[in-house]
Amino acid sequence: MKILWCWRCQQDMPMLEPAEFRLMIRAREEGMGLVEQERLRRGGSALAPLALEGLAERFRPMLEMYRLLTGFEETNPNAVYHHSTAQFGPPCPQCHKPLRTPQARYCPQCGFGKDDMSADPRPLLLKRPDLFRE
Ligand SMILES: [Zn+2]
Ligand SMILES: [Zn+2]
Repeated sequence: MKILWCWRCQQDMPMLEPAEFRLMIRAREEGMGLVEQERLRRGGSALAPLALEGLAERFRPMLEMYRLLTGFEETNPNAVYHHSTAQFGPPCPQCHKPLRTPQARYCPQCGFGKDDMSADPRPLLLKRPDLFRE
């Protein structure tokens, strides 16, 4: 899990790493048994069930798994689907918020890369790999 700026939520949100994301999708398919199994594996104590209403109840195993992995009580199933580190690019060299996608051509937050976009329309990551070395 990593806390990253989320473009859609307009705030820092807990994002799942690829293996965690797969676990959450498995929970959607396999149900609460998998969540319970993961909780025991981590040695965590039992949690009171999330308060979910309407449609969200159908996604309980997924939302409970997200809480187990992040500690964050998210009750909107649509939100957890996009809280995955894999969909974002590396941090912008200027403002350090993650690029919206690995294919981003500029940073919409601070405008980095916008100037030379017409001269060279390739993704920033391809155009300036030197800026993204960790
Ligand atoms: Zn979000
Ligand atoms: Zn930026």
